[in-house]
Amino acid sequence: MTNAEIALALRSIAELLAIRGENPFRIRAYERAAMFLEGFPQDLEDVYHAGGTNALAELPGIGKDLAEKIGELVDTGKLQFLRDLEQRVPKGLRAVMAVEGMGPKRTQFVWEEFQVRNLRDLERLVRSGRLSRVRGWGTQSVQNIARAIETHRAFGKRLPIGKARPIAEALLRHLERSQLCDTVTIAGSLRRWKETIGDIDLLATSAHPERVMEFFCGLPFVARVIARGPTKANVLLRVGIEADLRVVDPDVFGAALHYFTGSKAHNIHVRTIAVAKGLTISEYGVFRGTKAHKGKRIACRTEEDVFRTVGLPYIPPELREDIGEVELAEQHRLPALLEAADLHGDLHLHSDFSDGSGSMEEMIAAAKRAGRSYIALTDHASVMGMVRGLKTRSPQQRGNVAAYVRRVRAAAAKVSGIQVLVGAEVDILPDGRLYLSDAELRQLDWVIGSVHQSFKQTPAQATQRLLRAMDHPALRCIGHPSTRLIGGRGELALDWDAVFRRAAERDIALELNASWVRLDLDDVRCRRAQSMGVRVCVNSDAHHPQEFDVTYGVHQARRGWLTRADVLNALPWSKLQQWLRRGRA
Ligand SMILES: [Zn+2]
Ligand SMILES: [Zn+2]
Repeated sequence: MTNAEIALALRSIAELLAIRGENPFRIRAYERAAMFLEGFPQDLEDVYHAGGTNALAELPGIGKDLAEKIGELVDTGKLQFLRDLEQRVPKGLRAVMAVEGMGPKRTQFVWEEFQVRNLRDLERLVRSGRLSRVRGWGTQSVQNIARAIETHRAFGKRLPIGKARPIAEALLRHLERSQLCDTVTIAGSLRRWKETIGDIDLLATSAHPERVMEFFCGLPFVARVIARGPTKANVLLRVGIEADLRVVDPDVFGAALHYFTGSKAHNIHVRTIAVAKGLTISEYGVFRGTKAHKGKRIACRTEEDVFRTVGLPYIPPELREDIGEVELAEQHRLPALLEAADLHGDLHLHSDFSDGSGSMEEMIAAAKRAGRSYIALTDHASVMGMVRGLKTRSPQQRGNVAAYVRRVRAAAAKVSGIQVLVGAEVDILPDGRLYLSDAELRQLDWVIGSVHQSFKQTPAQATQRLLRAMDHPALRCIGHPSTRLIGGRGELALDWDAVFRRAAERDIALELNASWVRLDLDDVRCRRAQSMGVRVCVNSDAHHPQEFDVTYGVHQARRGWLTRADVLNALPWSKLQQWLRRGRA
């Protein structure tokens, strides 16, 4: 039982409890634990075997009850509590809940009132028109749900990278530990860090390929073996996507890795160059002449070898989409892409002053542990009543801006060795005004403006909304600019070039929100922003001390061709201060 599988079980419990309308705190506890486990570097199984449930209970956010459930999962491979829940809630309801605009309450409602048990039932109900007559739904919201069902279907069986990657890494660890493989690595779109993944590709070298296949097909993740040969296997994983494993000869590993990493378009382009040089490149190697297998094989143990045979430098996987990278490589002008170590700061994170679950001091200390030398604490300032945080013209201590500023400064004083800006993530209202007053905004060091409601505006309205927000002198950054949720909510309809132009004129940063459900800006827009001279800010949007990892964001930035020079929080603290001061002037 791997961490990823345990996390999956906990997420399932959270979803099922939500549909049953149970206590939100209890649901949140399962979600938090799952999120923690997905990023936990040690194997839970090992922790459990070494120290029992007591050791598990000491991990952050786990506690006694969850520790016992995890123990049961590890011991028996199943969990009675989850089985009971699954019996009581129809299987298809989890897909219904995932449709944007549905959520747990509405899912529970259509299940109880209209006996909706799956997506098809929901679609039928929406079409029948009966739902629009129900109080609190309305024609508009039902239409939105109809559209969301379509989006949901189009997304199909692809997984967001944040769900696929931990599973692939767990598969990798199992294969490594089997000691049957000499090398094993991730290939395919996962190695190119695409934001959604259709299937998992793994590549290995081994002296015992058949034993590797047997081991792989017998792993607990595997729901069904689709095809199995002596050197390759294709299985359906329990999470619903397929995984391929191939064992290749170490002498041609580089050629195979290049081939199976793709993309197809990139491979075709490289092969065309090879042909012009009288060579043939395939998954089986690089050969002289135009007939593979017949010509003499040229060294291709590594990908560097393969690129060298056609006169190219190494091209990082994130760039391999045939969107100009091969041409630039030919001229030896590939960009030096952003590296994780380039990021000095994190300018978007929340504490329990708004909807985060760590105190200000805990969040600052955690950011420091994550290697940041400066941060901005940016609790929400939201017009929505249900979102806690800063409230405009609040007479109470709780939401008052001046009180917030004092609290952040006091928390910052308790943690040495990290610089803390007092910031806020302020709602951009539907007409483009910012939610806080000018006098309140002036008290803050750093203001992110974000859209959190009224997503369905016309292109003209939505664009005007952002342009007007950017005219406010206090605003320094637009948070998650498209507002999309991968596999869920669609995007604002924006005239992006107009937004980029204004951002460049006013030197306002656009965020690349590194949370894998957002990854917003996306790769294509990062590159467009760069070409128009806009700075991008790669932020965690952490809501918990464990959420400072920005790996997905860094790779998305690399897919968007961003270099250190394009990224605001790659500036060291002194340079960032200069940038902030210049903007004030
Ligand atoms: Zn936000
Ligand atoms: Zn946020």
